[in-house]
Amino acid sequence: VDFGYEDINFDEKEDRVKEVFHKVANNYDLMNDVTSIGIHRLWKNYFVSQIGPMRKRPVIDAEGNPTEEYEPMKILDVAGGTGDIAFLMHEEVQKQRRTNANAAAEITISDINSSMLGVGMDRAKERGYTNFNWLEANAESIPSLKNDSFDLYTISFGIRNVTDRLKALKEAHRILRRGGRFMCLEFSEVKIPVWKEIYDVYSMNIIPFMGQIILNDSASYQYLAESIRKFPNQDQFASLIKEAGFKHVTYENLSGGICSIHSGYKL
Ligand code: SAM
Repeated sequence: VDFGYEDINFDEKEDRVKEVFHKVANNYDLMNDVTSIGIHRLWKNYFVSQIGPMRKRPVIDAEGNPTEEYEPMKILDVAGGTGDIAFLMHEEVQKQRRTNANAAAEITISDINSSMLGVGMDRAKERGYTNFNWLEANAESIPSLKNDSFDLYTISFGIRNVTDRLKALKEAHRILRRGGRFMCLEFSEVKIPVWKEIYDVYSMNIIPFMGQIILNDSASYQYLAESIRKFPNQDQFASLIKEAGFKHVTYENLSGGICSIHSGYKL
């Protein structure tokens, strides 16, 4: 099984990823809109809609038993960058609260890159969202977060950029409490023949070209396109999630496999 580790010099990759996201941070949303013709918003909306009820749950005592006290659902959005997924989750909680007084979530946004977090914090302020926790951290190791402490771990278009993905998945497993869920939205493998050819030309040629025209930076977008191609396919990535200890691992393709949503539980 090929987990997409080929050709990777681990030290170089981490530096490269940092450089790319420092460069694109300010124009990240604009480029996403242009390169995906706005479709990334639909994928993200759908991803968040798959979380289901986001409600308070009983506080767990030291022996692991539920108490009579309740606390908000604890969510960690890793590689959360500019806040897209966290803002959608926050809005979803508000929506659920209209019909369920128990809807509540405490959302932590983490990212390795201070520029991306900075853009996210500014955007949160503009929207009047003051209740997020922000954390600069590498997904591979987040020692400041305790074992068994989160109900949901999300990562959207982030795991592809992580150097040691298995390590990051094991870290997700450590941080989640029993019954907690891992959810990942990521580019994936298109298997439908003609669609695949069109998509390959689009991602390898047209996206870097747009990067050049709009941002005068084709290299960063070339990197992004290549990282999509090298990322493991749906089944390989599902195997890696299982290897990290998750159970009931499933995936769903979006737009013919351009993206997929992987889900798994810590049991
Ligand atoms: N989640 C956002 C979204 O869906 O639009 C941002 C995705 S952006 C393509 C990828 C993000 O992953 C960047 O903000 C980058 O800094 C972050 N990233 C890359 N490597 C990381 C790592 N090892 N740990 C945490 N975040 C990382």
